[in-house]
Amino acid sequence: MKKKIAVIAGDGIGPEIVGEAVKVLTKIAGRFGHEFLFDEKLVGGAAYDVFGDCLPEDTLAACQSADAVLLGAVGGPKWDSLPGPQRPEKRALLTLRKELGLFANLRPAKVWSPLRGASPLKDEIVGDGIDLLVVRELTGGVYFGEHTRSEDGLSALDKMPYSTMEIERIARVAFESARQRSNRVTCVDKANVLETSRLWREVVQRVHDDEYAQTELDFMYVDNAAMQLVRAPSRFDVILTENMFGDILSDEASQITGSIGMLPSSSLRADGFGMYEPIHGSAPDIAGKGIANPLATILSAAMMLRHSFRLDAEADAIEAAVGRVLAGGMRTMDLGGNASCMEMGAAVVDAI
Ligand code: NAD
Repeated sequence: MKKKIAVIAGDGIGPEIVGEAVKVLTKIAGRFGHEFLFDEKLVGGAAYDVFGDCLPEDTLAACQSADAVLLGAVGGPKWDSLPGPQRPEKRALLTLRKELGLFANLRPAKVWSPLRGASPLKDEIVGDGIDLLVVRELTGGVYFGEHTRSEDGLSALDKMPYSTMEIERIARVAFESARQRSNRVTCVDKANVLETSRLWREVVQRVHDDEYAQTELDFMYVDNAAMQLVRAPSRFDVILTENMFGDILSDEASQITGSIGMLPSSSLRADGFGMYEPIHGSAPDIAGKGIANPLATILSAAMMLRHSFRLDAEADAIEAAVGRVLAGGMRTMDLGGNASCMEMGAAVVDAI
């Protein structure tokens, strides 16, 4: 298989961790007989310093013409004083999501068994392990609704629009994902208060009854879901939710695994095109020291193979290699060890 991957490493630790993920993908290509072409472009503060724009036209065009995008992270103190719309997180991330039509954000939160001790939750709560997937709607709701302020500046309004079409397509992503897992979906909303949530319930129930009746479906208010995530996280398989609730719950879900350097994510379009990135930021405090954990980015590359290229065996090979390296005891600093970013990357390459 021949695929073009836009590689936008970004700022801070971005280039270090993405470099290791590219080595892993290169190893996979060699072992399984594929050809991956890496089209490297600047994004974020790194692009601003050269072009005066955190998302230059050339970078956007490279992402649009690629088969998938691998992103490190953007942002850092150097660019914090830029006006809001020009800041890396807003200009680069939100524009990429919108322009590429990435409406579905998938964030698996899993405790790897060799890392059980990293979870801040008690052993009896972690139980047999935590392994859940948050499916968050990414291009609708209050983040993309109208934001206005009254003329006297004393009141403000944020609109939270959702259409049936937007809910149907993200519901299908959640049900399809559940089929590959334990086949249970929990739709999280605030239907006791919000009209959009009541529409979500109607539409999700209908998509379920018409197309995915074999999948277990339940509904939960978001305040209860936030509580259940720390009380009984193993009750969840797939959490389906709207943009803002998903933003908050996916951060909570990642924290209960205890290792921010381990968690991948993907943002997808209906045709399988996607952008893949670790959930953490650019970690300016450790940038350039060579000690960042590259595993979240390497696992994001595995998600790319699975979701965008349908290369399940190749994705499994990366995940199994990560499992073996951890079982062997190698740890980067965030996991309490002293392996460098390059040593961890090389160990995964060797284990494939
Ligand atoms: P962060 O995720 O960058 O860092 C939080 C803490 O976790 C830091 O102590 C950091 O050293 C550590 N950490 C993060 N990733 C690690 C890794 N792979 N290995 C080892 N340790 C790791 O969050 P922050 O400090 O709040 O944000 C820093 C910058 O990143 C800000 O400019 C923020 O806006 C940006 N950011 C970008 C994205 C993105 O590009 N998607 C996401 C979140 C934050």
